[in-house]
Amino acid sequence: MDCTTVRAQLDAYEDGELDAAGAKALEEHLIGCPDCLHAEEQLSALRRGVRKYATYYAAPESLRNRVAGLLNAQDKAHSRRAVLLRWWQLGAVLGTTAIASVLCTLLVVTTVADRAADRLVNELVTSHVRSLMQDHLLDVASTDQHTVKPWFAGKLDYSPPVQDLSRAGFPLLGGRLDYVDGRPVAALVYQRRQHRVNVYIWPERGRTESREHAMAVDGYNTVGWTHDGMVFWAISDLNGVELSQLKDLFNQK
Ligand SMILES: [Zn+2]
Repeated sequence: MDCTTVRAQLDAYEDGELDAAGAKALEEHLIGCPDCLHAEEQLSALRRGVRKYATYYAAPESLRNRVAGLLNAQDKAHSRRAVLLRWWQLGAVLGTTAIASVLCTLLVVTTVADRAADRLVNELVTSHVRSLMQDHLLDVASTDQHTVKPWFAGKLDYSPPVQDLSRAGFPLLGGRLDYVDGRPVAALVYQRRQHRVNVYIWPERGRTESREHAMAVDGYNTVGWTHDGMVFWAISDLNGVELSQLKDLFNQK
């Protein structure tokens, strides 16, 4: 231990605040160092003098209380901080868990919705192909929307919008009652050059139906959308661009 360290620790040594090893090392230095020993003796004499000769004042009760109050407040502030910190930590853990579980739920919901949509699209394409193969394309053959629309009345519990799109190059061929997704639905049939387009229509039932879909399945293009509370699916071997035009025409009406 060097002199600088010893001088720095003399006060603590005199107050009995050094640990046993520290005190022993300091004493060993004092034995071999007259300067430090002298400093220690002066300090010790001062302490004795203060104890012996200095006037002793008892602290008034009010000062005692104020100091005690300040210490208390400090303790409370400290424990409030500790409590807040603990809540914050707990909140962070819960928050992370909550976000994770929300993300998981969203993922599951999205996956389930996607699978349901995939199943539906496959069913619609199958229905479309069947309507062309079995020569059961039309129950009501008419280019007149005012003939086709009333035909559905009494056969469905909703009234599908029937649009005349002949001026836009999609003449109406007629309509048909079909069975999709476990319920009877309206199918309108339009023509575009040599292509047939089935437009399936039913009332919107759930939020999963309100997303726009456009995908190709087995060489057929499919476009799904919702408008005015109705779900629409257009299926055809027509190209996707023109099929989307049909969607836009439907939504304009
Ligand atoms: Zn020394």
